[in-house]
Amino acid sequence: MIEISANSALHQNMIRWRHWLHQHPELAFQEFTSSDYIADVLESLDFEIQRGWATTGIVATLKGTGEGATIALRADIDALPILEQNQIPHKSLHKGIMHACGHDGHATMLLGAAAYLKQHNDFNGTVHFIFQPAEEGFGGAKVMVEEGLFDRFCCDAVYGMHNWPGVPAGEFVVHDSEVMAAIDTFYITIHGKGGHAAMPEQTIDPIVIGAQLVNALQTIVARNISPLEAAVLSVTNINAGKATNVIPNHLTLAGTLRYFDPMVGKKLKKRMKKVLKNICKSMGATAEIRFELGYPATINTPELAQQCASVARSLVGDNAVHRNRPPSMGAEDFSYMLNACQGAYIWIGNGEGQGGCMLHNSHYDFNDELLPLGASYWIRLVRKICA
Ligand SMILES: [Zn+2]
Ligand SMILES: [Zn+2]
Repeated sequence: MIEISANSALHQNMIRWRHWLHQHPELAFQEFTSSDYIADVLESLDFEIQRGWATTGIVATLKGTGEGATIALRADIDALPILEQNQIPHKSLHKGIMHACGHDGHATMLLGAAAYLKQHNDFNGTVHFIFQPAEEGFGGAKVMVEEGLFDRFCCDAVYGMHNWPGVPAGEFVVHDSEVMAAIDTFYITIHGKGGHAAMPEQTIDPIVIGAQLVNALQTIVARNISPLEAAVLSVTNINAGKATNVIPNHLTLAGTLRYFDPMVGKKLKKRMKKVLKNICKSMGATAEIRFELGYPATINTPELAQQCASVARSLVGDNAVHRNRPPSMGAEDFSYMLNACQGAYIWIGNGEGQGGCMLHNSHYDFNDELLPLGASYWIRLVRKICA
C-alpha cells in the first residue's frame, strides 16, 4: 500500500489543484497567480511559508517530531509559450501559454506530499518544500541559490523529480550520476562583401562560407571529442540575404551545445573559434562568435541517488525502477541547486497513453494517475532520509 491511494480524498484534491494550475499557466518569473494559488493551499494546510524567492518562489517548512536531517524537495511551477492543442476540460485559459512540461503536476505532487506530511509528521528532521519559478530557460533555481536559498535553509541534501513521457506510469528512472546535460548557446556573424549575384568574383560570399562552416562544425564532435564522451553541436538557425540576385554582406548563424563534462564544453568552444577563424580567413571574410552560457549539467550524488532508487523500489518493485537508462541531452536548472548542495533528481514515468507525447509538445498533458505515486515517493524519501 502506498501512502496516498488512488482515488483517495487527497488524490481528488490533487487533481483539482493540478487542473487549476494547468488552466492558469504562467511564464518564467510571472507565475503570480500560480504562486498565490500554491500559497493559499499551503496556508489552508497551516504551513508557515516564505514567499518572494526569485520573485514568485515559495518555501514551506515542516518540522518532524524529532531531531534529524534537513532536506529540501523542489518542484518547478512555470509553463511554456506554446498554444495548447488538447481538447480537455482543464485546457489552458491563457492563450499561447501551456503547462507542456508537467510543472503543474510537479507542484501538485509536492503539495500532496506537504499535505500528507503535515498530518503525519512522524519523521526526525526538517523538510523544506521549494516551489521554484522559471525553470524553462530563465534559471529560477540559479536566482534562488544566489538569493541565499541554502544559507537561509541550510540543507543536508536537495531532491528533484521530473515526469518522463515514454516511461510507463508506475515506473521510475534513477541515474547514479549524469541526468541532464549542460547547455550553451552560440551566435556567429560572418562579415563578407555583398554584391551582384552575377558577378561573384567581386564579392566575398558569406553564404558559401556559412555552408562550409556548418559542415566543418559537425566535424568537431565527430573528430575532436572522444566517442566515449557525450556532446551535441546543433546549428539551428541561419539567416542571410533577401533577394535572388544579390549576394548579402553578412550571415548569422546560431545553435546549441550540449555536454556533461565542463572540459568537453571548453574544447567544443575552443575548436569552434579556431574553425570559424580559419575558414573565414581562407575565404577573406571576418567573423565574430559569442557564447551564452546556459545551465550546467545535472549530476546526482551517487549515494543519494541509490537511496532514491531504494525508495522508488519500495513503491513499485525492483523491475519498475530503471538504473541504466542513458541520461538526457536536455537541460534542467535544478543543476544549480545540485552545484550548491548534494542531492539527486529522478524521473517518474508519465506513461505512453493519452497525453504521453513528449515534453514541450502542444498535445502533452501531465498524467493525473501519477499524483499519488509521486507524492508517496516524496513522503517515503522524507521518512527514509529523516529516519
Ligand atoms: Zn521543460
Ligand atoms: Zn520541465
